[in-house]
Amino acid sequence: MKTAIITGITGQDGAYLSRLLLDKNYKVIGVARNLLAGNLNGLNFLNITKDVELVEANLLDLSNIIRLLEKYQPDEIYNLAAQSSVGLSFEQPIGTLEFNIISIANILEAVRIVNKDIKVYQSSSSEMYGNVDKNKLPIDESFIIHPASPYGISKASAHWISVNYREAYKIFIACGILFNHESVLRRPNFVTKKIITSALKIKSGELQYLTVGNTSVQRDWGYVPEYVKVMWKMLNVNEADDYVICSGEAHSLQEFIEKVFITLKLDPVKLVKTDKALFRPVELEVIYGNPAKAKNKLDWSYQMSFDELIGQLIEDEIKYAEWMKSNKRN
Ligand code: NAP
Repeated sequence: MKTAIITGITGQDGAYLSRLLLDKNYKVIGVARNLLAGNLNGLNFLNITKDVELVEANLLDLSNIIRLLEKYQPDEIYNLAAQSSVGLSFEQPIGTLEFNIISIANILEAVRIVNKDIKVYQSSSSEMYGNVDKNKLPIDESFIIHPASPYGISKASAHWISVNYREAYKIFIACGILFNHESVLRRPNFVTKKIITSALKIKSGELQYLTVGNTSVQRDWGYVPEYVKVMWKMLNVNEADDYVICSGEAHSLQEFIEKVFITLKLDPVKLVKTDKALFRPVELEVIYGNPAKAKNKLDWSYQMSFDELIGQLIEDEIKYAEWMKSNKRN
């Protein structure tokens, strides 16, 4: 039985990756910053809380991570913990930089000190590329890194720290350069979650309209349960490498909103308002990627269409709302 440590287990990727690894018969150790206040809704919703071992740790404290590795002797570490919101990173640039960069540096130092055979997955991000010339799209692994937000900068630094430890110390570190991926477990401060929950509330009469920022931006969206599969694949091949993980298609936020509203038989023209206060200081206009390397080297491909993704997210959200109600959560 292999042992995996997942940092950021309380997040959306952490919960779905835990389920995948449990299905593969792993012992899963979930690291959270604070279990008392930690949000275990994701693990509870997937009904796997009792199957993982949860442990509190401070990833900014190297000694804490060293003790963790000595105690659990993991085969694999999946580093998913991060301040993951681009929007929030403009409000909290220093905190975002500090946590997202120092946490991976500490993990890699701990691996170097305790056991260099531990394999590490680092969650890098398409936000590292910033505003790419539209004529050069789609983005692949060879693109110049030029982030346009504190979040993107933190992920770029974390990415290069990972590459450096791979090259300098021959540690197996794979970086998944993930484009946006969504699930019902997305935090409420993310626009996709806000659109779907608001549309459902409008439908039931609890809300009058949805307020959004810039809807002309185009993103490459995928579904979390499909993307966590490739995280595992990256650590279970012969060589560590970096991979762009995406659907390969761009769709605008406007299109996302319209599909959700029309699926729920709501009128997006009447029920959606724009608020300039929700625009970001710098916005990536359009990004989408090329997943060819992951397909060729990892035999991973993303099959879901954009319409299927929207349908699935709405279906999951309805189930989640019912589950929350039956568990008397709010
Ligand atoms: P998420 O739902 O926001 O989860 C983030 C996790 O990190 C949570 O467990 C959270 O713990 C933890 N965390 C956040 N700030 C922390 C801090 N200061 N100290 C300790 N723990 C902290 O994110 P996700 O969507 O699962 O994403 C997983 C990883 O993939 C992240 O590194 C993200 O940056 C990266 N990524 C995501 C996407 C995407 O579209 N989802 C795309 C590219 C890359 P709490 O529960 O305690 O808040």
